[in-house]
Amino acid sequence: MSDTPEKTNIVNYKFHNIDTNKCKICEGFFCEDACFRGIYKVINKESEPKSTVVEDREDHCVKCHICTTACKLRALTID
Ligand code: SF4
Ligand code: SF4
Repeated sequence: MSDTPEKTNIVNYKFHNIDTNKCKICEGFFCEDACFRGIYKVINKESEPKSTVVEDREDHCVKCHICTTACKLRALTID
């Protein structure tokens, strides 16, 4: 098993998938602002940022893909 810096660490929700390894170097937190449905919450912004899906909001997603475009690190995918 390799342990390179490019290693992914995908956190899977119902249909949102977040590579939280990429979030660690994020500075803009664009996912949070981009989603007009308030589906993302970035935690640990001051130390090790990590985007999370607000559990009871996930079903509000309309799959518009504004978030996947807004995340310049391409950490987000939606099934
Ligand atoms: S999902 Fe993208 S924009 Fe959001 S914190 Fe992670 S890297 Fe940053
Ligand atoms: S696809 Fe649209 S509604 Fe769904 S999480 Fe992304 S920005 Fe929000």
